[in-house]
Amino acid sequence: VPDLTPAAAAQAWLERLPLAQRAAAAACTESRTWGWCLGWAVVFGVCWLVLKQGWLARLRERIERDSPRPWLASSLTAGAFTALLLAVKGPFDAANAWRCDSLLHGAGGASFGAHLISALGGAASLVIAAMLLVPPAQWVVRRRLRSWPFLVGAPAICLCLALGWLPYALATGPGLPVAPANPARDGLIALIRETGLPTDQIYFSPAAKEGLDITGGFGRARVVLGPAMQAAPKSEVRAIAGHLMGHYFHGDIFSIYLHVGLLTLAACLALQWGVRPLARALGASKVEGPADPEGLPAAAIIVAAALLFAGLVNGAFIRWINVRADAFSLDHAREPDGLAAVLEREWDHQAVAPSPLAEMIFYTHPPLIRRLTQAMEWKAAQPR
Ligand SMILES: [Zn+2]
Repeated sequence: VPDLTPAAAAQAWLERLPLAQRAAAAACTESRTWGWCLGWAVVFGVCWLVLKQGWLARLRERIERDSPRPWLASSLTAGAFTALLLAVKGPFDAANAWRCDSLLHGAGGASFGAHLISALGGAASLVIAAMLLVPPAQWVVRRRLRSWPFLVGAPAICLCLALGWLPYALATGPGLPVAPANPARDGLIALIRETGLPTDQIYFSPAAKEGLDITGGFGRARVVLGPAMQAAPKSEVRAIAGHLMGHYFHGDIFSIYLHVGLLTLAACLALQWGVRPLARALGASKVEGPADPEGLPAAAIIVAAALLFAGLVNGAFIRWINVRADAFSLDHAREPDGLAAVLEREWDHQAVAPSPLAEMIFYTHPPLIRRLTQAMEWKAAQPR
């Protein structure tokens, strides 16, 4: 058998996935990319229109015709504006999801109506959340004109770490039985010895997500094997465990949530500095700052832009983290074919080789072809 170059070996792995499925995934990702761009353009357009027409200012004048009612004005303008945004974006998102679903599943996909119901399903709770949360937020801004970004940002960082990273680090869970001896478990034990992962037991849970969970922090880790992985070949279990151990040893989950918290703080600072000039530039001359109910669309534009920017930055960061975790798996588990096999088995039906734009928007891991190539390059570099 002639030796394949890494690129050809990766391509050979890829070709084990049916061509029709790869083509459908590519079409779906392409369609989602354009839908995503158009969807955000619509959001920005609605914000601009509402600001330019002064609709929220007029609503506020009606509410406060007899006497100042800042809390009520704040709540009702936030509710009305959120409802309008969602009413425009909901059908748009539903059309996108429906088109992608029919590309992937043909006639077996859900109907447009079902997608519309699910897109609008969360809308009511979002409107209520806006009505409840925007007034106190605008109150804090009114009371603490200079320091509020830190008053909001610092707790946001703590909250991100407390909700995202802490459960991972504490690695608590129900008492579980020890995983029964089999090749998957034995391969895992050898890998734990090799990497020095601080754990002395492998547990079994029928509910373990992804088939294998490795969590922990503060000098101890917890390994939970699920049914899917327990029945998988030893090489695949070791390869995916190596990836998760990479995340553990590099402290990746902490960095990701810290990153999200810091981006929230950055968004608050952008709001503080940006709402007034943006609102005025777009034709709302009376807006003084982020505490003004009629400045809400300008605040929404800045929050949306910050979310977009944060999503792109965080996506790039997480993709880099996952390249490093794959490298850790290859160096320690030394199972390039196991890694290729498990990546293929767990393929999420995103395009295997997307456009750079689609990758920036949607991918938390490098596209499949690049992960396969990384594994095959590692394999080719080994002495034999
Ligand atoms: Zn990962």
